[in-house]
Amino acid sequence: MRKPVIVGNWKMNYTIPDALELVKRLKMMVSEVKGREIVLAPPFTALSSVSKALVGSNMTLAAQNFYWEDKGAFTGEVSAEMLLDAGCDYVIAGHSERRQLFAETDEGVNRKVRLALSSGLIPVVCVGETLAERESGETFSVIERQLTTSLRTVNISIPEDLVIAYEPVWAIGTGKTATPGQAQEVHSYIRGLLKKIFNDAADDIRILYGGSVKPENIDELMTEPDIDGALVGGASLKADLFARIVKFKVPEMAKDTEHYL
Ligand code: PEP
Repeated sequence: MRKPVIVGNWKMNYTIPDALELVKRLKMMVSEVKGREIVLAPPFTALSSVSKALVGSNMTLAAQNFYWEDKGAFTGEVSAEMLLDAGCDYVIAGHSERRQLFAETDEGVNRKVRLALSSGLIPVVCVGETLAERESGETFSVIERQLTTSLRTVNISIPEDLVIAYEPVWAIGTGKTATPGQAQEVHSYIRGLLKKIFNDAADDIRILYGGSVKPENIDELMTEPDIDGALVGGASLKADLFARIVKFKVPEMAKDTEHYL
């Protein structure tokens, strides 16, 4: 049984007071939610304050990025130890915006994943094809390259130590969502790749979908057998939208609903 995870990626949004206001509203709206992990990824500057505000709640903290070295002359970078110190449990690695705007590579993501794991942070490893790659039939080869390179020599003690996010680049921030069928096709392919690397543990690794997830499409996406949650950008900035996504509803019998609301 894979416990669903919903991660809100706030990107470069919100000062500390704005962040705390959003957390306050979310705490009121999702306090009853059980059987799902709710993770917030504010910008670095708000991590510590949000961490304190989350104490005693059913939400945990993620960072959006970090650097793979322990410490030293790396101006502008933040280490895994610093994220743990700020209260993070998770860290996003290889988001497509970092790949596209900041030249992040699969090899760099691999170094981050290994350091996150050895430091005690759970990496949320992002993979996904561009529109041009999808249209030229390269979706699976791109996913294979990104995933196998990012996970090279990676060991996990338990399947919950690692989260994968499939985020088709053409669906991020565009309002275009992959259909549940398109997403499931890639999620199932990713599960197959994970089996080659981690054997049976792959059955328990959570694979999230990301790309214009909103209240209107989350229920249908979550009925797919290999979609174990969502990485949410735009809709995570509004308490009511994010709370509704967290409270996704799957029809009886579509999945084992025993651990759900
Ligand atoms: C994201 O930032 O990972 C994302 C999926 O953004 P959005 O939900 O806005 O498409």
